[in-house]
Amino acid sequence: MTVFDWLICGSGVTGAALGYELQRSGFRVGIIDRSPQPANATRFSYGGVPYWSGTTELMQTLCQEAIGRYPALSEELGDDIGFREIKLLLTLSPEDDRDAVAQSYHNCATVPQWCDRQTAVELEPLLNLEAISGAFVLDHAQVDPESLVRGYLQAFSRSGGTLIYETVIELLEQGVRTEHHSIGANGVILCAGGQGRRLLKRSGISFPLFFPMPN
Ligand SMILES: Cc1cc2nc3c(=O)[nH]c(=O)nc-3n(C[C@H](O)[C@H](O)[C@H](O)COP(=O)(O)OP(=O)(O)OC[C@H]3O[C@@H](n4cnc5c(N)ncnc54)[C@H](O)[C@@H]3O)c2cc1C
Repeated sequence: MTVFDWLICGSGVTGAALGYELQRSGFRVGIIDRSPQPANATRFSYGGVPYWSGTTELMQTLCQEAIGRYPALSEELGDDIGFREIKLLLTLSPEDDRDAVAQSYHNCATVPQWCDRQTAVELEPLLNLEAISGAFVLDHAQVDPESLVRGYLQAFSRSGGTLIYETVIELLEQGVRTEHHSIGANGVILCAGGQGRRLLKRSGISFPLFFPMPN
């Protein structure tokens, strides 16, 4: 039975990035997913990088580190991840309460700047001038999520990481059981997105899950 230091279940952006980082830190890593092209959340994501949105010191530090690293990540991974810096417009309808919306962003690292509707339409000509009162504007960034994951996984493989395409049926104490066999690992990291809960339940593992809420 193959024994990895870490076996990561899920090759979305979370599993791919973590696998790459662990492999290049010297661990023996496997990433397992049910398909080379899974219809996962990462594939359907807009790829927005909201590095302005951290509301705690830790999140703000992580956001700053991320935006410091993204511009050079294509070169590091050897693949174009489609990184670009863009303006994000958060449009408001005439009936929206501008002060209340502004208040909901007051804990973010960067507070959005208000611009009137004429300026918003100059920034994004596809906006309907009549339907908005204006917009909050932020410096934002974007990547192509599929290219990002492809880049991470290719760099992971080049560094000696192992990609496995099988469906995990159950999490074991030291590895996983797939539809065909068991794969040994000293540690298993679950990056299965929305499917993770079902896998935990099927494996008889129960613990509280917490989701951070903005503000
Ligand atoms: C329409 C949309 C737009 C979004 N836009 C943004 C955005 O602009 N910015 C942003 O930051 N976030 C955005 N998100 C959220 C973001 O896409 C997700 O938070 C992120 O992709 C989650 O990645 P993940 O790796 O955790 O999970 P996933 O991408 O879902 O990957 C989980 C993987 O686990 C695999 N898996 C599951 N169960 C098993 C099993 N039993 N055996 C083997 N493999 C298994 C799946 O096949 C899948 O590949 C968006 C989401 C959607 C749906």
